Amino acid sequence: MINYNELKLLRAALKKLDAGFAGLPEFTPEFDDAALAAVLDEVATRMQDNYPYYHPHYAGQMLKPPHPIARIAYALSLWINPNNHALDGGRASSAMEKECIPQIGAMFGWEAPLGHLTGGGTMANLEALWVAGKLHPGKRVIASSQAHYTHQRISDVLGLAFSAVDVDSDGRMSLSSVEEELSKGDVGTVVVTMGNTGLGAVDPLPAILQLKERYGFRIHADAAYGGYFGLCEDLEPRTRQAFDGLVNVDSIVIDPHKHGLQPYGCGCVLYKDPSVGALYRHDSPYTYFSSAELHLGEISLECSRPGASAVALWATQKLMPLVKGGDFAASLGASLRAARQLHHRLANSPGFVPLMPPELDIVVYAVNTDDTTSSSAAARSLFTKAAENGLHLAMIELPTALVGGYLGNIEINSKSVTCLRSALMKPEHEDWCERVVDLLEKSLP
Ligand SMILES: *Cc1c(COP(=O)(O)O)cnc(C)c1O
Repeated sequence: MINYNELKLLRAALKKLDAGFAGLPEFTPEFDDAALAAVLDEVATRMQDNYPYYHPHYAGQMLKPPHPIARIAYALSLWINPNNHALDGGRASSAMEKECIPQIGAMFGWEAPLGHLTGGGTMANLEALWVAGKLHPGKRVIASSQAHYTHQRISDVLGLAFSAVDVDSDGRMSLSSVEEELSKGDVGTVVVTMGNTGLGAVDPLPAILQLKERYGFRIHADAAYGGYFGLCEDLEPRTRQAFDGLVNVDSIVIDPHKHGLQPYGCGCVLYKDPSVGALYRHDSPYTYFSSAELHLGEISLECSRPGASAVALWATQKLMPLVKGGDFAASLGASLRAARQLHHRLANSPGFVPLMPPELDIVVYAVNTDDTTSSSAAARSLFTKAAENGLHLAMIELPTALVGGYLGNIEINSKSVTCLRSALMKPEHEDWCERVVDLLEKSLP
């Protein structure tokens, strides 16, 4: 699991960091090694109680290990522990955050976005909908019924009316349902999900951009999970067109802690029009004295934020720039291929019925039995059996009205069906696909 070379690299970098403060009078904090060692031993034991998220045998929820560069840079920065709220608390890490933002924006064809890192996708979406609500007061927010549940809850927090619109049989926002809502005249913001969390389906952004010309509303793209896939060159044409549309939306959320190889605590919100920064204005009496330059706390709802997140992200983007054809894009391409391969293999396995072909790297599949009730029970039992065999999956409950068309000969005798769900977020899943299929077949009830 652990490549101990990471510690060598961290040690060398720490020495370099330390040298920068050599001019100060000697001051080295001390601690009781033995006491720490005893507690750490207990911590390490307790941490064994986890699924092996880093291993290709973990093919369930959206969990991806941070890149070693991110882990090392994050750890390194903890000896400074910068706070990216104000420049007084983190000059270098604030500068790094400001460099990361245009690099992320460039993936979407944005030239000079306003943006910052957040604690995660939830906070980032909250900020984007807060801005949307300020610009369209009293108007509704709509998102698809397969959008992340956070949008409904955030709208509630912000006091904005929210409606969910139907999805088509592939899990994408239904255009006729969107238009029906728009025709009521009170929609201020449409949330378009670029890869929903359950199915990985990408909403039809080009058509929604056309509707915007007719009806006038704000488009917020929730690309928390899927955003980085725009770098892949072998997306299906309609998915490619959706990603190409991002250049024309008003705000985007992307989670570096999902597909961007970062430790948790790293989301990002971007605004096309930097003038929305004025909405964040506040007069803190004690924060921003060290310079007239932008302090990130002036454009963020969160106050203290980990400079370590910015340092880790900067280092990762330096090592693997966010460009088409680069190493980072190639690793996402491997995840795409892994998902297609798993879908294909399951379609040829008598024990399984895969649902919609994966648009990104999430594969959803039912266990092939006589009816949806027994299929759901079989999925739950397979989930447990697979874990005993060392393969870790996730489950998803889907309305049969939505996915019935994909269920083949499984008779529909329930309102919903429990399916298995594998987010193949690790590039290594491409090479491990056969082993995953073997274990799946071996775990059938
Ligand atoms: C994960 C996710 C979120 C929530 O983000 P967190 O980082 O978990 O707070 C929102 N939207 C989508 C599409 C997601 O996949």
